[in-house]
Amino acid sequence: MSATLNTTAVTAATAFDPACVEPLPVLGRDVTVPLVTGGEVTYAALDYAASAPALQRVWDDVAAYAPYYGSVHRGAGYLSQLSTDLFEQSRVTVAEFLDCRPSDQVIFTRSTTDSLNLLAAVIPADCQVFVFETEHHASLLPWTNAQVTYLNAPRTPDEAVATLERALADRDPYGPALVCVTGASNVTGELWPVKELAAAAHAHGARIVLDAAQLAPHHPVSVQDLDVDWVAFSGHKLYAPFGSGVLAGRADWLQEADPYLAGGGASRKVTRRVSGEDAGGVDVEWHTTAARHEAGSPNVIGVYSIASACKALNEAGFENLVAREQHLIAKVREGLAEVPAVRVLSLFGDDAPRVGVISFVVDGWNSSHFAAALSAEYGIGVRDGLFCAHPLVRTLLGSEPQAQGECGAPEAAPGERSLNAIRVSFGAGT
Ligand code: PLP
Repeated sequence: MSATLNTTAVTAATAFDPACVEPLPVLGRDVTVPLVTGGEVTYAALDYAASAPALQRVWDDVAAYAPYYGSVHRGAGYLSQLSTDLFEQSRVTVAEFLDCRPSDQVIFTRSTTDSLNLLAAVIPADCQVFVFETEHHASLLPWTNAQVTYLNAPRTPDEAVATLERALADRDPYGPALVCVTGASNVTGELWPVKELAAAAHAHGARIVLDAAQLAPHHPVSVQDLDVDWVAFSGHKLYAPFGSGVLAGRADWLQEADPYLAGGGASRKVTRRVSGEDAGGVDVEWHTTAARHEAGSPNVIGVYSIASACKALNEAGFENLVAREQHLIAKVREGLAEVPAVRVLSLFGDDAPRVGVISFVVDGWNSSHFAAALSAEYGIGVRDGLFCAHPLVRTLLGSEPQAQGECGAPEAAPGERSLNAIRVSFGAGT
């Protein structure tokens, strides 16, 4: 068994000449930054996995819409109507981008973290959750109300599927269960065998949510082809940095649960109780559409920018974007391989299909100092730390847990083995 979806996308990329594929125009290309050594240099943004720069197209679309900005779902005026239309049209665009089933709902959230916390809030009370320890904290931690099984880090995609199958075989076969898995690692860039994991989950009567925060900016995501029940991603990693995210997928659990946020917009009808024992309270009828979990005034600019980014990526053609990115990945990895002190972190090995996210350590260097030097001396913006995936990075570094702040970078004295790593990440705008 192998990661069919993902390798297919990567293999298809080799049919293109990457030299013919231009990067997509993004903001910040010409930004210059000061160097400690004096002078200035054009900034090299290599931290796409944290937040990608805005596509010029997204910026232009937002600027063109801005004068027409109005409240969504509430106003009778022309601009409110227009904003409502754009907001709802954005939902359709996102559903198309994700190749959702006709019955799926697209809910706009603040981010992937928000989307997964929303899902965690609506899963049935007796739901068992299965999650690999290698996940980003956004996927690892929201399941506080459930019985969670943490699965050990697999060393191959096949082992991931086998590990999940074993865990699911041991579960109560009659209760609800949910598997949460990332599509592409924010640490190694490696692609996970999502389709196979979804098949395993369904074979055991479980559902599956795909954390596509790192996958969606690099690869087409088809809910139907992968056969996942939900997918979550963030706008700011998809070149739409305006504070919005998406949870899309099956409506039933979403519509059977209480609203994630209670308030206006989620409620269809609110009435004061005038009689009975609890007279004086209120009765609420909640919406049974996506609005149920979108209480409050929505982020119309953020939502519109996500739709704009989805259209821009589709129009550019993922096969072109993948071709270019694979070319860049090969160049970066070749360059790193020439430096004996560098160790690139990998769970699935050198040949694993991956996106443009590469983490490494340099012998004799504290990663935080190394990253700071790249910025100060060369104007290269990377990230150092444990990347909000502490268990995974520690497994890859072979280090023991250390006390440190959330997402923080633990200290190692210069010359000691690093307790954290350096990450370079890039994408369609690089
Ligand atoms: N999942 C993965 C794989 C991520 O890389 C990230 C962010 O780095 C998240 C989830 C959380 O995304 P956000 O911070 O936009 O909620």
